[in-house]
Amino acid sequence: MPELPEAEVVARQLRVHLLGAQLNECWVGRADIVREGSPTLSWYHGSVLEGVERYGKSIALGFKKEDELRYVVAELGMTGLLLFCATQTKHPQHVHVRMSFTGGRESELRYWNPRRFGRLSLLDRAGLDRYRARRFGVDPLTVSRDEFVRLMQARRGRLKPLLMHQQVIAGIGNIYANEILFRAKLHPNREVNRLRRTTIIRLYDTMQAVLCEAISCGGSSVKDFFAPDGTEGQYKRRHLVYGKEGQLCPNRCGRMIRRLQSERSSFFCPACQSNRLPR
Ligand SMILES: [Zn+2]
Repeated sequence: MPELPEAEVVARQLRVHLLGAQLNECWVGRADIVREGSPTLSWYHGSVLEGVERYGKSIALGFKKEDELRYVVAELGMTGLLLFCATQTKHPQHVHVRMSFTGGRESELRYWNPRRFGRLSLLDRAGLDRYRARRFGVDPLTVSRDEFVRLMQARRGRLKPLLMHQQVIAGIGNIYANEILFRAKLHPNREVNRLRRTTIIRLYDTMQAVLCEAISCGGSSVKDFFAPDGTEGQYKRRHLVYGKEGQLCPNRCGRMIRRLQSERSSFFCPACQSNRLPR
């Protein structure tokens, strides 16, 4: 479930509570949670958390010791959570990593994920660069309008899968793709290469507005997303189409929100997001 807004909320909380803290110990409960770099685990003991970055739906913790920087990258995509120690989870057996800190506002950070294999990577700078290059396209919050237009014009295929294609645009998943397309009045199956420049710009502005509003609401708590301090995101209350099949369109067009036949997780209004008219 965590998508870009939720990951951004996580990154911001970690900065507030743990930047500058020293990592005393990093306990890894299952070897198969670590994708790469497990032999370097002991290096991190005694290092200081220097930076927290979000890439797509992942969080990179940057640690410094002497003059060296290394990173712990945790995937949040779909099921992962990073939690402070007072935050309870339903299935504590899925806490696979515990980091204990001194000198911060929190004393422990836990990584919870029911999907185990390879969700965490211990990387040096070159490793982080490779990791990012392989996985993440442009960031929807920082990509320029012109770059976004160029990117879209260079692609073919249907619009919604492209918005969710992490190697092209990193961080948007199913919930926000549905919400963005409804607000931009674009059918999920629109052919990308037939969109006009003005339409792509409308999509860009809508994408940034939706993601920023969601971040300011603490994200959306759907399928058990919690911020590290246990708070739930409130953006779910502002969802207009996601999970709203059979309800009247909030634009008052008189039609009901439907799901795409071919893709059951795509919610749209057949009138407001028509696939017929050129826009
Ligand atoms: Zn409508």
